[in-house]
Amino acid sequence: MRKTWDFHGGIHPEENKHQSTQFPIVDAPLPNKVILPLQQHIGAPAEPVVLVGEKVKTGQLIAKADGFISANIHASISGTVVAIEDHAIPHASGMTDECIIIESDGQDEWVELEPLADWESASVDQLLNKIASAGIVGMGGAGFPTAVKARTRERHSIDTLVINAAECEPYITSDDMAMRTYPEQVITGAKILCQLVDPSSCLIGIEDNKPEAIKALQDAAKGTHIEVVVIPTKYPSGGEKQLIQILTGREVPSGGLPADIGVVCQNVGTTIAIYKAITQGEPLISRITTLTGNAFNRRQNFTVRLGTPINELLELGDFDQKAASRLLMGGPMMGFSLQGDELPVVKTTNCLLAPTHDEFPDPELENPCIRCGMCEQACPAELLPQQLHWFAKAQEFEKAQLFNLFDCIECGACAFVCPSHIPLVQYYRYAKAEIRREDEEAKKAERAKIRFEQRQARLEREEAEKAAKRKARMAASAKPKTAPAATAASATSSAPALDEAEQKKLKIQRAAAAVALKKADKALAEGKEANADNLAELEQAQQQAQQKLNDIDSKLGTAKPTASSAAAPANSLVSEEREKALKQAKIAAAASKAAIKKAEKALATAQEAGDDAEIKAKEADLATAKANADKAADKLKALQSAPAPSATATAPTTDNSA
Ligand code: SF4
Ligand code: SF4
Repeated sequence: MRKTWDFHGGIHPEENKHQSTQFPIVDAPLPNKVILPLQQHIGAPAEPVVLVGEKVKTGQLIAKADGFISANIHASISGTVVAIEDHAIPHASGMTDECIIIESDGQDEWVELEPLADWESASVDQLLNKIASAGIVGMGGAGFPTAVKARTRERHSIDTLVINAAECEPYITSDDMAMRTYPEQVITGAKILCQLVDPSSCLIGIEDNKPEAIKALQDAAKGTHIEVVVIPTKYPSGGEKQLIQILTGREVPSGGLPADIGVVCQNVGTTIAIYKAITQGEPLISRITTLTGNAFNRRQNFTVRLGTPINELLELGDFDQKAASRLLMGGPMMGFSLQGDELPVVKTTNCLLAPTHDEFPDPELENPCIRCGMCEQACPAELLPQQLHWFAKAQEFEKAQLFNLFDCIECGACAFVCPSHIPLVQYYRYAKAEIRREDEEAKKAERAKIRFEQRQARLEREEAEKAAKRKARMAASAKPKTAPAATAASATSSAPALDEAEQKKLKIQRAAAAVALKKADKALAEGKEANADNLAELEQAQQQAQQKLNDIDSKLGTAKPTASSAAAPANSLVSEEREKALKQAKIAAAASKAAIKKAEKALATAQEAGDDAEIKAKEADLATAKANADKAADKLKALQSAPAPSATATAPTTDNSA
């Protein structure tokens, strides 16, 4: 038997898992509509590739991953895209985000699926591309894009693949029932991951409170090198760092990743999704979700299409609104209360929990900390929860960071044992949100400082250039008047005539410079939207590109063109400048919309933290962002409605005297 280790702390809450394991998994009915958020994962939101009114089939790509850490989104039903708009999403703050909404045609007509027929001889790249294109993300809660995690081998030496089958949180049984029902899929998914990661051992860690699943996996794993390791039931053994410690005895360093100690960890639901993507070509369009808690009369696991509105599931589970003390997404320890039932099931929705008042009475009144130290004994991350609580309360965030606040996995074990009923995790979430906000503000200030310094340097450079020109002019005017006429003409004229060949060369250079500026504009706009760290460099690159174009324009524009070629370049310059102004106005309008969204999110975070001063500040930020957006929209409108300038009005005067 393989040796296992223990981790510090942990608790043994009532498991309450049997309620939802009495019946097999069944398919939930097709929803009437689905609401698919563009960000159901860690990383950048996906970019829509469909339009409102477009007909889509089940499994069709509707939003494409935007960047390295992002994930594709697929239609989970067939029907018509009826909206691409902001909609409430499942989040602790009750925030909204951009979603694609599809109304079902009731047909469930699928796109043609393309499995990798002989995956065992497929290359690593083929497998990774398939997993990435299927939009698979970690389904155990975090939602990190799986293909990115599976690429870890490119940068780290990995010797152990851990499949997280612990499912330690009370009430939730979606992984347990999936393992009982589809053990071969779990094992095949693990084999595919082994082909990608190439570890020397593959360990499936499962708690000993799941005997049926253990037996099913052991049978399916016979004859493979995959080992099913049964571990004692203790919350939170399913925490990534805790499970790795139990199975390998290695500790992920503070602030580090499992890959730093040679381990990659994937959730059991993710391995099933990988199995489906590779062997059946099926993208991630559904997941198993537990409906449990005694306010559901039907407590069971269902295979649910992503985007299904919660209210359709409440109906399916025969939800008793009056009996429910609350409605949670996730389990009782790490889940969060849902604000409304128009929210969709997303890739990480493993459970809907509707406990009655008997199961979840109202929270006890919070009392002062009595320094009993029980929270410290329970903390699996070996933190000092009571001190983190004091630092968060006193807004001493630097100290909280020094005490490794960000190693807190928000498992709630400390709050569970606290005799003073202090909602400790809420304090940690608040402190983390504040630190992230302060970091963001510090980064913005640094960027502003760099911009200011660059501007100063530019002004000084321009001043020096002007002084040099003045000096040159004075030197020229001091020359004897007996100089030949041709020399005098060349000294006073800053705009020599250009012949056809020179003009052509300049025009080619201008076209290249215009393309470079376009790219720099785009990179800057994207950088602003993503709040990129290298904004200063992007701005500098954009300014340089603009300067280069201006230089060429000034050569073309101030030169005395020949009669045959004067009008055409002038016309094209005018219209190009107008296009450029329009484009910049469009970018500004888009950026101002993004700013509104960010301000709304910041306000939601402040509202969640319940800090009145902060809420006021964020409301003011939001009002400013909206005012800026109005201005940007007005400017864009004015440019769009202005008539295009006529060639005769703006073309430089043709001068044939040269
Ligand atoms: S368990 Fe509660 S009362 Fe005891 S030290 Fe921790 S925070 Fe204080
Ligand atoms: S919530 Fe954080 S501080 Fe509390 S026990 Fe879990 S890891 Fe420790």
